Amino acid sequence: MASMTPRRFAPGEPLAVLTTQPLDGALDYRAPEGGVVLGAFVEVPLGPRKVMGVVWGEAEGDWPVEKLRPVLGVLDVPPMTPGMRAFLERAAAYTLTPLVSMLRLAMRVPGPGEKPGKRRLYTLGDGEPDRVTDARTKVLALLEERRGDLFALSELADLAGVSTGVVKGLLPSGAVAEVEAPRDAPYPVLDPARPGKPLAPDQQAAADLLRDHLRTGGYGTTLLKGVTGSGKTEVYLEAVAECLSEGRQALVLLPEIALTSEFLKRVEARFGATPAEWHSGVTQAERRRCWRMVAEGQAKLVVGARSSLFLPYPRLGLIVVDEEHDTSYKQEDGVLYSARDMAVLRAAEEGARVVLASATPSLESWANVEAGKYDRLDLTSRFGERAMPVLRAIDMRAETVPAGRWISPTLRGAIARRLEAGEQSLVFLNRRGYAPVTLCRACGQQVACHQCDARMVEHRFLKRLMCHQCGETRPMPETCPSCGIEGKMAPVGPGVERMAEEVAELFPDARAAVLSSDLFGSARALKAAVEEIAAGGADIVIGTQLVAKGHNFPLLTLVGVIDADLGLQGGDLRAAERTFQLMRQVSGRAGRADRPGEALLQTYQPEHPVIRAILSGDEEGFWAAEAAERRAAGVPPYGRMAGIVISDPEASVAFDLGNALARRAQVLEEVGAEVWGPAPAPIARIRGRHRVRLLVKAPRQAPIQGALARWIGQVDVPRSTRLSVDIDPQSF
Ligand code: ADP
Ligand code: ZN
Repeated sequence: MASMTPRRFAPGEPLAVLTTQPLDGALDYRAPEGGVVLGAFVEVPLGPRKVMGVVWGEAEGDWPVEKLRPVLGVLDVPPMTPGMRAFLERAAAYTLTPLVSMLRLAMRVPGPGEKPGKRRLYTLGDGEPDRVTDARTKVLALLEERRGDLFALSELADLAGVSTGVVKGLLPSGAVAEVEAPRDAPYPVLDPARPGKPLAPDQQAAADLLRDHLRTGGYGTTLLKGVTGSGKTEVYLEAVAECLSEGRQALVLLPEIALTSEFLKRVEARFGATPAEWHSGVTQAERRRCWRMVAEGQAKLVVGARSSLFLPYPRLGLIVVDEEHDTSYKQEDGVLYSARDMAVLRAAEEGARVVLASATPSLESWANVEAGKYDRLDLTSRFGERAMPVLRAIDMRAETVPAGRWISPTLRGAIARRLEAGEQSLVFLNRRGYAPVTLCRACGQQVACHQCDARMVEHRFLKRLMCHQCGETRPMPETCPSCGIEGKMAPVGPGVERMAEEVAELFPDARAAVLSSDLFGSARALKAAVEEIAAGGADIVIGTQLVAKGHNFPLLTLVGVIDADLGLQGGDLRAAERTFQLMRQVSGRAGRADRPGEALLQTYQPEHPVIRAILSGDEEGFWAAEAAERRAAGVPPYGRMAGIVISDPEASVAFDLGNALARRAQVLEEVGAEVWGPAPAPIARIRGRHRVRLLVKAPRQAPIQGALARWIGQVDVPRSTRLSVDIDPQSF
C-alpha cells in the first residue's frame, strides 16, 4: 500500500481537505503552486483563520475552481498513508464519532507543523538560583523529578504552573539549562538479529508460529494466552524481531505507563537499544520527535499507551496488545474507543498482525477464538518450572475481626511468617483513599459531591475529601455539612490508606509501601516506587489494582486480598469477568522468582461460583459458564450493545431528548435491535450535568452503526446537551 504513488493534484486543481475543526466533513480548496499529493498535511484558510488539515480526496462540491480558496502551505512531513486514512474512516464509522475527532487523535501533536532544524529546550542545570521563590522552587522540583527530560519553554512553565518568565529568570544563574537539540534526531538502531534468550519448548513453538505468520504476511490476530510468568513477553519479542528484520514497524501497547521502564530494559537487552516511547509521561518535544520519526519510518518500534495506535506508521507489521483484558484500554473520555478493537481495525487496514497477550483474556477475545476469527497460542507453565501460587479462601464468617479492622487472624499470621522469612507480602484492596464513605454520626448523612451523584472519599494523605467522578477536592470538614454538629464526622469502610494504617498497627516494625494511583504526582514517581519495591525496599505492599498489572516483584510470595467479593456487587453483567481477571492477575503477583507463592482471598461467600472458579483456576469452566449466561442474555460478546448517554444541566432536557429517541426507535427495530430506557445513567450526575442513558441491544450480526446513526439523526440535540455513543460499553 505504502509503495503506491499517491494521486497528485496539479497547481490550481480542486481537492477536498479534512480539517481538525468541528465541521461536518471535508471542505474544497484549490491545490497550491507546486501541487500537492493526496494525504499531505496542509494549512488552509477557514474564515479569517489558518487551520491544519489533510488532503482527503477529490473535491466534493461543484464550485467553479476560481471560487475555491487555495491551500496555503504544505507541511514538510510525509503524507498520511492510504492505510491510515482508511483506518480513521473505519474507526469513525465503528465508534460513531465524527471523522474529525478521529483525525484529531492522529494529529495530537503540533509535530507535523514543525520545520526540521534546531529548537531550544530546557532541563535541570547545575547552577544555584540567585534567589529562591515559590514559583522557582516549583520549576526546579519538577526538573529534579524529571531529570534528563527536555522541555519546551511553555510546556515546562505549564507543568510547573508558573509563567515562562519564571523559567527564563532561572537561566542566568544556570539553575535551568538551555540546550539546542535537533528536532528529529534518529532513534538508536535496534538489532533484530541479536540472539534472544534460549526459549523453553512451548515458548519456541509459539514464537515459531508467530514468526511464520509474519513471514506469510497479511492481517491476522493471535491470542497469546499464558499464566503470569509463563514467558509471553519473550515470545512476542520474537515476533517483534521478525517484524523488524523484515524492515517493518512494530507497536507494543502496555496498559500502564509505570510498566514501560521494565519493558524498555527488556527491549534493550534483546535488541541492543531502546525503542521510541509514546504516552502522557513523555515530553511534548519527545512526542514531536517520535511522531516525525514514526512517519519517516525511522522509529521501528514504539512502546506506548493506546493513543500510539494513531501514530503515522507507514510500514506497520505488528501490534502487540499486552494484558489485552485490561480495562484501561477503553478510552472513557472524548472519543470512546477500545484500543483492542482499534488495534485490530488498524492492523486489518495495514495488512499487519496483532498479538493479544494475557493470562486472563477478555471474554471478547475468547469468543473471537471460538468463532475462528483469532488464532490461539497457549503457554501452559511458568517459565523455569516455577510453581504456580497456591490460592485459598479465608472464610470471613469464621474469622473474628474487630470493628473497623479488616485483616483476619489467618491473613495476619501468613504475613507474619513472610516477615520472618524476609519475603514480601501484598495486601490488596481495590479502593483508593482512606474510606469509601464519610458520614456524620450525629445525623447519619454522608458527604456527597456538590456536582456529582457520588460520595466524597476521604484521602487522608492529602488531608482532603475527593470526588472520584469529577476529581474535585475539599478540606475534610470539622462540622457536618448537613446538621452542623461538630466533631462527629467518621470514616466508614476501608480504603487502601486505611489498610496501611491497620498494617502499621499490626506490624509496627515492617517497612510498608502504599501503591495507589492518586498518591503519585507523575508516572515517573510511580515508576520509582515500583522499582524500589521490586528491589526489596518494602516488606508489605498495600495496593489497589495498580499492582495487579504485570509488575514483577521477585521477592513477593504472599498476596492477601482484603475483599474478594468487592467486584461482585452490583448488577453489572461484566462483574464476574472483571473479578475473575483481577483476582487471577493479582494472585499471579505471588512467587515469581524461585520462591513459591500463596494467595489468600478473604471472602464472605466462598461458595460463590466466581470465587470457586478463581480458586480452582478452572478457566475453561468459568468461561463456558460466563459465555452461556451472556449468550442467553444476548449481550456482548454474543450480541451488540451501545450505550447512549445524554447529559444536560437540566435533567428534564436530557430526559426529553431520551424520550424523543425512544419514541423513534423504529429504525433500530428494523435491524432487530431493541432500546431500553431512558433511565438515569449509572452515575446520574457528573460535574453538574444530569445524565440519562439508553441502551441498545442488537444481534451480533446486525448493522448497528448505520441504524444508530439514522436513529440519532432524527432528533435535534439542543446546544446545551451532549450526546455520546459508546459501542460495547464497559458496563451494562
Ligand atoms: P509473562 O509476560 O508471561 O508474564 P515474562 O515474559 O515476563 O512472562 O517472563 C517471566 C520471567 O521469566 C521474566 O523474568 C523473564 O525474564 C523470564 N523468562 C521468560 N522466558 C525466559 C527464557 N526463555 N529464558 C530466561 N528467562 C526467561
Ligand atoms: Zn464530583
